[in-house]
Amino acid sequence: MTEVRIQKILSLLEEAYPDAVLVLHYRNPLELLVATILAAQCTDERVNKVTGTLFKKYKTAKDYANVKQKVFEEEIRSTGFYKNKAKNIIACNKEVVERFGGNVPDTMEDLVTLPGVGRKTANVLLGNVFGKQAIAVDTHVFRVARRLELAKFNDPDKVEQELCKTIPQEKWTRSCLLIGTHGRRTCIARKPLCNVCVVEKLCNSPEKINITKCTLK
Ligand code: SF4
Repeated sequence: MTEVRIQKILSLLEEAYPDAVLVLHYRNPLELLVATILAAQCTDERVNKVTGTLFKKYKTAKDYANVKQKVFEEEIRSTGFYKNKAKNIIACNKEVVERFGGNVPDTMEDLVTLPGVGRKTANVLLGNVFGKQAIAVDTHVFRVARRLELAKFNDPDKVEQELCKTIPQEKWTRSCLLIGTHGRRTCIARKPLCNVCVVEKLCNSPEKINITKCTLK
């Protein structure tokens, strides 16, 4: 992986997706924390629908810490895995209240001690609300990084380490948004839209769809 190739990929993605931002709606660290936990195995669009109502009712970590689990389960049911998510969000916010005075902590070390918070969620927060450089490997970033040979491991934490090595640190957060956006809009899981892909010439993925055939017809 040459530095020139990475720079080329990132600048083509920047040109293609100047509007790349997190799809999840949030106004503060607490809302992003809750939205990111809800987003596991669920589309961001569905999460936004649910949080549109949720965030009007729950404003502080204490609000989540005090809700009855059964009530909360019903409120987030449509995001899937709702029992586990409800348990984690309530437990997580209890710790935010008890250990961090109601404020979501802003370091990886503290964030990953919270129930339901792994490296991906922690990196989403660090990169998008705490002004740090971070690479959050979600399903889209994972897939695109491997297809474009930016990473080869089959484990999200290892892919994060690989991307951190290959991408200059000052570009981690932005690169992650660009790669994720490419995965959502073009390099989609089942049938990537290779015929409109801006990095097609730099892609050697076996999953690439034969665009010569398509365009000749
Ligand atoms: S050419 Fe196809 S597989 Fe390769 S990055 Fe583009 S959309 Fe993805």
